[in-house]
Amino acid sequence: MVKAIKRATCLLIMLSLLNTQFTCAQELHSRWDELVASDWPKALKLSDSTCILPIGILEKHGPHVPIGSDLIQVREWAARATKREYAVVFPDYFYGQINEARHQPGTFALPERVVWDLLEATCDEIARNGFKKILIINGHGGNPELIRYFMQTRLEKQRDYAVYFFEPHSDSAYAKKLSALHKSDPAGDQHAGERETSSLLYLRPDLVKMDSATNESGANQKRLNIPNVYTAIWWYADYPNHYAGEGAKATRELGQLVNEHFIDQLVTALKDVKTDTRTLALQKEFFDRVKK
Ligand SMILES: [Zn+2]
Repeated sequence: MVKAIKRATCLLIMLSLLNTQFTCAQELHSRWDELVASDWPKALKLSDSTCILPIGILEKHGPHVPIGSDLIQVREWAARATKREYAVVFPDYFYGQINEARHQPGTFALPERVVWDLLEATCDEIARNGFKKILIINGHGGNPELIRYFMQTRLEKQRDYAVYFFEPHSDSAYAKKLSALHKSDPAGDQHAGERETSSLLYLRPDLVKMDSATNESGANQKRLNIPNVYTAIWWYADYPNHYAGEGAKATRELGQLVNEHFIDQLVTALKDVKTDTRTLALQKEFFDRVKK
């Protein structure tokens, strides 16, 4: 009798284990490269035909945080946000504007027209696979001008999809918490500084070399100042080490605050984009008038 009970218990445990594995296999993944082709219609339906395109870059991040920091951050935001609100996430994309770091090891800077054509062809190809909405999220400070110009030129030719650009903002509650945790001068805290290092300490502490954070200066060198004039060399003039801020002051706590703020805003933006019908309707109205 005892043996029979034991056997039955064993069987139940095995069945529940099998069931867990079955449930895992049934889960619909967000990443494009982790989906199976037969799940595509389900992914399109659950995402309301929305695909997130996270854009990072490969560039030096001071002497202490990884070259792919911007990619790691946007990839993580997308992965964590789509657990709360489903969308398909395009795999690693790190082809942006990064000419200003070509003097540093690890920088991957493609020719300007390749960067442009690749972004356009990627959006067209995402749309060819059934997506009507592409939400770009960007982690690299040298990309917004490129992305905004790309967005503006979407009105040059009619397409049956819309591109959206996620632009997170600060609010007073977040700003208050941020300044309470922030130790360095916020004005100088930019590339691989306290905030970005904190972000990596939160997301991928295994990749951060805190001992190296003071090996180079992240201070503004102020080597060029022509009032009210923009130059291509301004960033190199100010930050030749491709490091701006004080990474040594980073904390995991600050990283958690920054990331949770971004992810909360991304979830909201994603919900809004998924339910939005106005953008595509207005695009159609616009092009109907252009053709007349
Ligand atoms: Zn960065």
